[in-house]
Amino acid sequence: MKDYLCEDTIAAISTPIGKGAIGIVRISGKEALSILKKIFRTKSGKKKEAFEDRKMHYGIAVDDKGETIDEVLVVYMEAPKTFTGEDVVEIHSHGGIYVVRKILRAVLSFGARLADPGEFTKRAFIHGKIDLVQAEAINEIINASSELSLKVAVNHLKGALSRKIEEIMDRLFHLKALIEAAVDFPEEDIEIIESAKVKEEIKWAIDEIKTLLKTYDDGKILREGIKIAIVGKPNVGKSSLLNALLKEERAIVTEIPGTTRDVIEESITLKGIPVRLIDTAGIREAEDKVEKIGISRSLEKLKEADIVLFLIDGAQGFTEEDENIYSIVKDNPNTIIVINKGDLPLKVSCERFEKECVVISAKTGKGIDRLTETIMEKLLLQPETILKESDTIITSERHKELLSKALKSLEKLLESLEKGFESPEFLSIDLDSAIDAIGEITGKRTVEDMLDIIFSTFCIGK
Ligand code: GDP
Repeated sequence: MKDYLCEDTIAAISTPIGKGAIGIVRISGKEALSILKKIFRTKSGKKKEAFEDRKMHYGIAVDDKGETIDEVLVVYMEAPKTFTGEDVVEIHSHGGIYVVRKILRAVLSFGARLADPGEFTKRAFIHGKIDLVQAEAINEIINASSELSLKVAVNHLKGALSRKIEEIMDRLFHLKALIEAAVDFPEEDIEIIESAKVKEEIKWAIDEIKTLLKTYDDGKILREGIKIAIVGKPNVGKSSLLNALLKEERAIVTEIPGTTRDVIEESITLKGIPVRLIDTAGIREAEDKVEKIGISRSLEKLKEADIVLFLIDGAQGFTEEDENIYSIVKDNPNTIIVINKGDLPLKVSCERFEKECVVISAKTGKGIDRLTETIMEKLLLQPETILKESDTIITSERHKELLSKALKSLEKLLESLEKGFESPEFLSIDLDSAIDAIGEITGKRTVEDMLDIIFSTFCIGK
């Protein structure tokens, strides 16, 4: 990677914009220390010439006219053992929008340039501190919206995915060396490429890539959430349950049957797993047109759902209308029966059903915890939603595309081998394209343009 990219010194506000106890301006690059010397004064107003590595100093920050901006704590971290691999300085001031901006402005006036979005992480990558998968993981961590997506992102940062990719890379490279030897020394009488061995290696790589690609579907749960549909006739308390789970009054609750006409979707996290709750219109013989549309959409949604919560108004008992809906959902293994209005005298009990059943009161919140647990137990029984923390999970579309590309090339290569085409030059083409695709994932072989695409989705200061 060309180093001229990092000639200048960059700076940015690294804490969220807004009021906070402290705000941090981060500087990275060759001029970081000299800028620190220009902006920092000791409490008695003197300049300071020496800053110990990784030690906090208390003093004041001044602007280019020597005017005091704020009291600060500063730290200088010497390259290369820093996040970016360059000299890094952090200036901690009081956290107000105005103060932090003023410090940044002073830093810029002393010779730094405002960092582009993601530029600190980009420099960490350029200096070999992290690979691309890890750089992307930093973005994932910042954007993680649930406990689980955070865990997966942290795993990526720790390098679990990178190590797997590198293992595949190493073995393909080894194969390439063998094939190249055959190209370079064709007259040698040694059987350099043993076709069986090559086939075995290619098959191994294909299996590994397929396993990784399969995890993209698990990753889908992280991106899109587990889908839970709430069904039941009008007025059983679907919106109320949705609200109880959301703990916010977002769906409109009314006493006129059939008011939740359309499908309402909300996203929440249950026990750290992102969940999309789908409140469906009551399934019943609809009289009017609007409701009919709502009902057909409800049935559609039911097919997509990972979990179906079938709600019954327990105070009313099990009516014919409930019976009709039950006939639709009872064969679905993902259905959980929920008897609502448990705060009132009940006319129906769980014994009536052979499926999992929970009594709740959406109004008082009674039984909601038990319901959440039942949902989790059911999800864990579905093999496709088992999410093992230690697993390397593909969550990025970019990784998926590149792995699919590599897979295609390797499958083509295997096919050629099986048809008996064993000319090394010929084999090299597909192998190279597989290696290129995999290499692009960690960025060990990548073009600068691609960097810009990835890092431009970052925010400034990261
Ligand atoms: P939906 O049509 O299925 O969405 O039902 P709603 O959530 O709009 O609820 C219909 C009515 O039942 C409202 O008056 C709610 O206050 C009431 N309701 C919902 N859940 C409960 C409950 O657990 N206990 C009692 N007593 N009333 C409830």
